[in-house]
Amino acid sequence: MKLEIKNLCKTFGGVRAIDEVSLTFPSGSLSAVIGPNGAGKSTFFNLISGAFAADSGEVLLDGRDILHLSKTERMHRGIARAFQVASCFPTMTVKENLMATVTAHLGQWGNLSHRFPPPGVSGRAEQVMELVGLTEVANVKAAILSHGDQKLLDIAIALALEPRVLLLDEPTAGMGPEERWRMIERVRVLWEQRQLTLVFIEHDMDIVFQVASTIRVLCYGRVLAEGTPDEIRNNQAVIEAYLGTEADAA
Ligand code: ADP
Ligand code: MG
Repeated sequence: MKLEIKNLCKTFGGVRAIDEVSLTFPSGSLSAVIGPNGAGKSTFFNLISGAFAADSGEVLLDGRDILHLSKTERMHRGIARAFQVASCFPTMTVKENLMATVTAHLGQWGNLSHRFPPPGVSGRAEQVMELVGLTEVANVKAAILSHGDQKLLDIAIALALEPRVLLLDEPTAGMGPEERWRMIERVRVLWEQRQLTLVFIEHDMDIVFQVASTIRVLCYGRVLAEGTPDEIRNNQAVIEAYLGTEADAA
């Protein structure tokens, strides 16, 4: 599904967190959103997913404006996101988390007293675990998973909603270099297999430049630049505002 953002705005108090942002993510594309801390990246995702209400603008899914829809309705239209901070039920196992998500997605919580799980739910949970590589820890409580597996569970929960557009907010945050590459390779394979429109926020520039086919740079809530990895690498404004300071900090 094609995701199109037009003139999106969001202020918090006096802060323009997202300021007239217009961006298009073609169907089946794999894009990275980068930018310094506080640039508005997470807010951008929150406005698309419906977690926050926008002040103005448009969010179009295959040409249809979804900005007036609730978070749940947007999910049903095909948008899912995984969070910077894992968002599962900590006392439930991996499989239980996924079964709960699938059940809720099917809109069958109401039938809970009659039959749990509803038919097909267990199989669907297993399929998603297989897809992200969590089968071995199916019966482990979410709270005691490794950090990497918690992030995978977060992505698995998003995938259980069968999205067409998947937003990943820093999928590799808090990981060591090796684990990071394993994670991003999984994400890349998912994107390929599911033909998702995938947008990920990422701080590791090696990953960004190697994995994304297009990069969008946010800075102070605005689009500073967009283009291919080569175009962004050589963009003077980006180097000055962002990559330059990253290099200095390193
Ligand atoms: P990033 O993800 O790029 O680091 P954020 O989207 O989290 O940036 O934040 C962008 C700006 O919006 C920051 O100035 C931040 O303090 C502000 N902000 C984000 N979320 C909220 C919120 N829920 N309430 C108030 N201010 C917020
Ligand atoms: Mg953020």
